[in-house]
Amino acid sequence: MVTTVQPRQRVSLKDAKSFSAFTNLVKTQERQKEVRQRLTAQLQTTLDVEKLLNIFYREIQQVVQVGGIVYQTNDTDHLSISMGQQNTHRCTYQLSSETESMGEITLSRSKRFIEEELTILEGLFSTLYFPLKNSLTYRAAITAARKDPLTNTWNRAAMDETLSREVELSKRHNLPMSILMLDLDHFKSVNDRFGHSAGDQALKDTVNIIKDVCRQTDLLFRYGGEEFLLVLNKTDHNGAQIIAERIRKKIEQHSVKCGESDIEVTVSIGVASCRNTDKTEELVCRADKALYQAKVSGRNQIKSGE
Ligand code: GH3
Ligand code: MG
Ligand code: MG
Repeated sequence: MVTTVQPRQRVSLKDAKSFSAFTNLVKTQERQKEVRQRLTAQLQTTLDVEKLLNIFYREIQQVVQVGGIVYQTNDTDHLSISMGQQNTHRCTYQLSSETESMGEITLSRSKRFIEEELTILEGLFSTLYFPLKNSLTYRAAITAARKDPLTNTWNRAAMDETLSREVELSKRHNLPMSILMLDLDHFKSVNDRFGHSAGDQALKDTVNIIKDVCRQTDLLFRYGGEEFLLVLNKTDHNGAQIIAERIRKKIEQHSVKCGESDIEVTVSIGVASCRNTDKTEELVCRADKALYQAKVSGRNQIKSGE
């Protein structure tokens, strides 16, 4: 495996005439070697990306003073971690293997970086490469275990972990929070009439519609087969009903393409909003009861569990 740490953009070095920038630069080979050895050892102590960067950021200060660090990935995870103070003089390094990008790291400070410092940093980046690669792989595995493979929504296990935290946050900060419980109508007959893969496509289309309507910060979980739970942060009951209606309408208007057939699907939705006294189960129970009401009232509609 080839390690490539590719400098993408550097601050202009040509006119770095002043030697004042050298003052904080410890030039001895010994010092660099020491830091490099310590980094190599310490970077093996964690699989947490944030902790890794913290170690890296702290240790490189021993040889090159840096005011701030930003790490960003451009995969679907859109990981963004920053530490310290971001400043005007920057150097950005793209971390990549031959086949994949591992994101980019920008170091910044108020003084220009000089050539010698950049050379030292490039050397130190190579110690970060494999630990970072391992922690990204670990992170991806953890995420995959919490996702539903068909619809790419969060699964029930993720929901159990997340929902209680969201309820607690809403109560502690006195912020409104609502949930929608959604269940596709007569979905069994979609499978029976058009086949299981058409049913799968309908589930994927439904998720795309829900994601289209809600905000990026909202959390969508696959609660069961054709049931979803949507957490709407900072959204009161009225707002949640408006979003529910948008989703209901869009699903009603959408046709799932299946060969020659256009399949019409509808959804019933129960809405509930968090009360200060609520336990997670009570909130979910109200949304569930409201959903049941929507079903018995004729489906393709929204009911409120307040
Ligand atoms: P209701 O309006 O009362 O909700 O009726 P329904 O037919 O939607 O409800 P029911 O619970 O009887 O059936 C749910 C169906 O959802 C049965 C099952 O085959 C289907 N289903 C669950 N998970 C999947 C899946 O991953 N893919 C497909 N294609 N179908 C699924
Ligand atoms: Mg159903
Ligand atoms: Mg159901």
